[in-house]
Amino acid sequence: MIHLLINATVLTMDTSLPVAQALAVKDGRIVEVGGTDEVLWLREADYEVVDLEGRTVVPGFIDPHNHFSIGAFETLWADCRGARSVADVQRTLAAAARETPAGAWVRGVGYDHHVLGVHPTRGDLDAAVPDRPALVMHFSHHQCVANSRALAEAGVARATPDPPGGEIARDKSGEPTGLLFERAMSRAETASREAWEARFTEVARAASRRYAALGLTAIQDAAVTPAMARRYADARAAGALAIEVGEVMVGARGWFERPDDAAPGSLKVFVDGGYRCAMRVLRDGAPRTSGFLFYTREELTALLLAAWRADRNVVCHAIGNLGIETAVGAIEDAVRTMPEGRARVRIDHAIFLTAALIARIADLGVWVVAQPSFLWDRGGAPAPDRATDETIRVRPFASALRAGVRQAFSSDYPCGSNAPLVGIAAAVTRTSREGRVAAPEEALSASAALEAYTLSAARAAGIDAVAGSLESGKRADLLVLSSNPLECSATQLASIQVLETWMKGVRLNQP
Ligand SMILES: [Zn+2]
Repeated sequence: MIHLLINATVLTMDTSLPVAQALAVKDGRIVEVGGTDEVLWLREADYEVVDLEGRTVVPGFIDPHNHFSIGAFETLWADCRGARSVADVQRTLAAAARETPAGAWVRGVGYDHHVLGVHPTRGDLDAAVPDRPALVMHFSHHQCVANSRALAEAGVARATPDPPGGEIARDKSGEPTGLLFERAMSRAETASREAWEARFTEVARAASRRYAALGLTAIQDAAVTPAMARRYADARAAGALAIEVGEVMVGARGWFERPDDAAPGSLKVFVDGGYRCAMRVLRDGAPRTSGFLFYTREELTALLLAAWRADRNVVCHAIGNLGIETAVGAIEDAVRTMPEGRARVRIDHAIFLTAALIARIADLGVWVVAQPSFLWDRGGAPAPDRATDETIRVRPFASALRAGVRQAFSSDYPCGSNAPLVGIAAAVTRTSREGRVAAPEEALSASAALEAYTLSAARAAGIDAVAGSLESGKRADLLVLSSNPLECSATQLASIQVLETWMKGVRLNQP
């Protein structure tokens, strides 16, 4: 059957025909983009005319840095994102423990120590869940709190030294408080997911439909363990994934560890920490460094070259200016040996930039995958415990674009809001959900933000030959929106509705 979508405003992202009225879809592909009359000529014996009555059609949104294999479980794990106090966290975990099957860890997600005023302790968690391992993840997913049973199972005791690239928080007497940073949480975090992961096909089926309803038609899971790669294969074989999910691999020993044992495919490398990313700031006129840096420039160069020689792409997580500088320096060194590696590496997050780093990234021509939705979720200011430095710019989207940086957007969900229209709105308004405006001079136009979440995202993910724009021959992954993001006011962007999601030419039912 040929589907003729007519009387629309089609924002194609194709520079040769940026706006059209209609398009034709057959066998999952776009076969024509143009005016309503010319598309109606393509009627065949078996056809459907879809009169869109002036609504807007855009390419399906693409999220090249999403944690689907974590976010998919959100309906099963204890949701601590709304917790206002440690008592709230305790109540939520205690209730979750009653629902958690035997053998599985009680797992909570998303607490925010700024809201709670403190981090919970192992004692707080023991009071809520005394008899089995429990762990609650910080919203950043780079630190967590474990109860005593969980610490024991993960082998974290008083005598355990801090691992390189991690820290076991301790009280004055030297006893672990339960709070684990970065590589110190590897064993506990990995163990806390294990039993749950058996239900991946079931949760992925529902989650991929929720993603589609938000307008996402293709994503990349930015951290897939070898075990999860096998779960993905099962989910695909069962036809559970309603959208396209690409996989970026990490090793089995924990997300932040060296990915030596990662499954084949694109590789994820954490260059620095998350909430405690590697920063170098001027304080009282003197440079000071803070946070976790997992690789030296030389180590990272060697890792990049080894990956490229094995035909692997590399996604470098780098957040702090020192982390980004390390990544940029290593990429510069590696492309001197293998110039073609330039197309095989990207930098994800790149939050704390400087003018010098922006220029070096633009020169390299590598993709940067940034997350505007954090401006909405958490405001744009650096965390209060991080010294500010006038040369550091936080999420400088407009400066980066002006300098020629190849910039795509993503959500980092569940760390940031999953809805692309929220991210687009945040990039345009620079405004948080509480109304806080951050560096408004770094705002993008709606069309630049839309491109960053469609065509640029497809390019960063390496799928632009088939997705990211509405052109003949590409996959018919498209959305019907309630209004035109290029014409509505900036404040209305986040409330635009995704009325229909078409994936490979099939209209998905909204869940
Ligand atoms: Zn991430």
